[in-house]
Amino acid sequence: MTPVPEFDFCVVGGGLQGCLLAQALAHHRPEARVLLLERATELCGNHTWSFHETDVAVQARVWFDPLVAHRWPGYRVRFPGLSRRVAIPYATITSDRLREATLSLAGEAAGPARPGRLVIRTGESCEIRSPTSVRLGGHADVFCRTVIDCRGRAAPSGLPGGAGYQTFIGHEYQLDQRWPTSEPTVMDVRADQAGGFEFLYELPFGPDRVLLEYTRFNETPTCDEGRAAELISTRLAEAGVHAAKLVRTERGCLPMPYATASRNEGPAPAGGYAGGWYHAATGYSMPLAIRFAELVARADPERIALEVTAAASQERLRRGFAHFLNRLLFCLVRPEDRWKIFRRFYGVLPEERIARFYAHRFTFTDAARIVIGWPPAGLAPIRFAMSFVSLPGPVPT
Ligand SMILES: Cc1cc2nc3c(=O)[nH]c(=O)nc-3n(C[C@H](O)[C@H](O)[C@H](O)COP(=O)(O)OP(=O)(O)OC[C@H]3O[C@@H](n4cnc5c(N)ncnc54)[C@H](O)[C@@H]3O)c2cc1C
Repeated sequence: MTPVPEFDFCVVGGGLQGCLLAQALAHHRPEARVLLLERATELCGNHTWSFHETDVAVQARVWFDPLVAHRWPGYRVRFPGLSRRVAIPYATITSDRLREATLSLAGEAAGPARPGRLVIRTGESCEIRSPTSVRLGGHADVFCRTVIDCRGRAAPSGLPGGAGYQTFIGHEYQLDQRWPTSEPTVMDVRADQAGGFEFLYELPFGPDRVLLEYTRFNETPTCDEGRAAELISTRLAEAGVHAAKLVRTERGCLPMPYATASRNEGPAPAGGYAGGWYHAATGYSMPLAIRFAELVARADPERIALEVTAAASQERLRRGFAHFLNRLLFCLVRPEDRWKIFRRFYGVLPEERIARFYAHRFTFTDAARIVIGWPPAGLAPIRFAMSFVSLPGPVPT
């Protein structure tokens, strides 16, 4: 006998994608009984997730906008020979804000499934058994009408088609004085690039609060803590900061894959990192995670798997292009020359093209405009060709 489903949706993974989906379901399907399962003891981890406001589809704004913790009318990029203000509104949602908003959907009291109330279970690793069942912590099974896999990335390395990596270390400071800028600097590439492409990312959250994040493009997923500390303290000194209290640290690593690496072959439709719903060339998840949440929450429940597959195949060419860019960057260009690719991107592209690129809505002509002029000095065409056959080691310097 088929068990009676206790929930309409069972969302496995309470990170960015799972929590955005819970928000979209609460808005579009207020009658649905939703279970959100997270193996960590709390939802959302420890992140600041930034995005261009142009990443957010108009129809998603009604449920997404209340999640935004910080907004700026534009941002800056700095390279040797180029400093540009990009007038695309930029914004951030934080783990704290998203966690709070998701917990508020669940209400105060724990209790059984009922329409319109999210049920959250944390602290147990779950196994997806079928499109309609999940095993909790190795024992009890839960049955629902639709399971959605939002379990994120399986492992930081070992991607089948090969990958480069973006590694990050971010320090958030409370200052006893004003920070000199009020808009973000998303790439500050003024440090010596001899050791490879690295930059500081700066988000002023308020007049006396700032996140400084060191980012490095690497052949391996390890981050250089010493170098991060050096560049962050140089920036604090340049800003004339005398006393800064470190209030939060975030660190991580994002693969920049050369080919699709997702869990799409699993029994349930997959979103977020698990399903390849992220921008492989920028590392930003937000545009595609919002799109996935809207898609699932608006779809006919009987057709979710089909619609997810169809939408994923519509993104196929863009994903392929993003993978191709990663391959170009890591296999064709010497580490010390990689920053020139980004300077060129910001130096030649108008804002509409930049916005479409980040939003994963770029057109064929946008793609052509991005690669025309590549590569600059330091190309290695034979290595690039070989990268289609096997994962290369670092480009020799
Ligand atoms: C330092 C850093 C900075 C970043 N900055 C940005 C940014 O500014 N903007 C942006 O758009 N993206 C950014 N990203 C990328 C973004 O964080 C990820 O792409 C995004 O979190 C992926 O969302 P997800 O829900 O698929 O995975 P996650 O957010 O990793 O969530 C997956 C969740 O599933 C849970 N889980 C896994 N397995 C199980 C299981 N078996 N049972 C139950 N739960 C399970 C995990 O514990 C986790 O909470 C950044 C990443 C890093 C590392």
